[in-house]
Parts: sequence; structure tokens; C-alpha cells
Amino acid sequence: MYHKVAAAGPGAKIRSHYVHPSAFRRQIRLLKSLGYQSVSPADACQKTARDIAITFDDGYANFQAYALPCLLESGFGATVFAVTGLLGGTDEWDGGQEPLMTRDQLVDCGRQGIEIGSHTVNHADLTAVPPEIARRELQESRDFLIECGFSNPGFCYPYGRQDDSIREVVREVGYPYACGTRRGANDSTTNMFDLHRVNIRSDTSLPVFLFKLLRARRGR
Ligand SMILES: [Zn+2]
Repeated sequence: MYHKVAAAGPGAKIRSHYVHPSAFRRQIRLLKSLGYQSVSPADACQKTARDIAITFDDGYANFQAYALPCLLESGFGATVFAVTGLLGGTDEWDGGQEPLMTRDQLVDCGRQGIEIGSHTVNHADLTAVPPEIARRELQESRDFLIECGFSNPGFCYPYGRQDDSIREVVREVGYPYACGTRRGANDSTTNMFDLHRVNIRSDTSLPVFLFKLLRARRGR
């Protein structure tokens, strides 16, 4: 799980969310050299030891600028979870410092093989809003992505926030899977509506990246 691939500016908030482009490049090259291949989170439960789903939350413009060229160069795909009501705007929920991709940029990423999923319309904490608003956040973002040409988009919970009733609505609305923030790998016993992930942060050195990778493979 990545958020931003960029150098953090002097006043950047949540600095842990920034992975420097050169660190990202080293991580992707390591995955390549170890024989990993990228899969969709939809296939995360049937994966083999060297399948990996590379995900990016929020749909930052820096994905297209820094992460995408590096992924394509190494033959990897990835999944971006976009906040569909804020395309072309900024990450208002985190202070609004970082630009988000526009609709055209998302479509362009899709054309280059990137899977686009939903992260709600407004980056809503679905457990903190009335049920009808939660349903609308899920339904309208899915409808929008389908209208953009992304068939059967997946979902990712803002802030990782979810509960049984929210997971049920995600399923009812028609999403095939949903990513949470619980740490670890996925297997046939994992709930497809609470897929685990491994958080890659600004301070994740290459040895720590490798450690996290191997720890996840051992199911921890
Ligand atoms: Zn988010």
C-alpha cells in the first residue's frame, strides 16, 4: 500500500505517506529481480508466492508523474483507488496540499493498464456518516468509474474504516472486493471485503521493504 510517490516539501503533512521516487524505483526493481509479478487485489486470495498487488490510495497526481513510468518500465501493473468527487482537486481531507489526478489522467492511466478502483466520492469515513450517505458514497463513485470505462471497479476504505454493515453495503452495491489496512498477506481464508495490505512508508528502507515482503509471505 502506497499513498504518494514524491519528495515531501518542507511543509508537507503526514510525511510518512511520501515515498521518494528513487526509493520507489529501488523497491520496484527489487520486486522485479525477485521474480514478482503484479496482480489485481481481486486475485489476491488465489495468488502464488510471487504474485503481488501494488496499490495506491487517493489517486494523487504524483502517481502518474513518478510511479507510473517506473512501474511500466519494470512491467508491473498497479491499482489506484480514486476519490471520484475530488478529481482535479486536492486531498482536502488531509489539508489540501497535494493535487489529485483529473478524470482525463485517470482514464490515461487506465489505458496504460492501471486498474482504477473507488475510494468513495469524498474520502468519507463510512463508519461515521449516516447509512444512506455511506451507500451513496459507494454507489455514486462506482457508477462514475463505470461511466469512465472502468468495468467492475474494486474498493478501498478511506482511513481503513469499516464494520460488518459497511462491508455488506460494499458487497450489495456490486464491488468485487475491498482493501482495508490490516497488515499482512491474503490467502483463501481472507475476507474479500477486508483484504490485508502492507504499508510502505517514507522511512521504509530497502532492507525493511524486503523484511516486510518476506514477513507477509510467511502470513504475518
Ligand atoms: Zn485515503
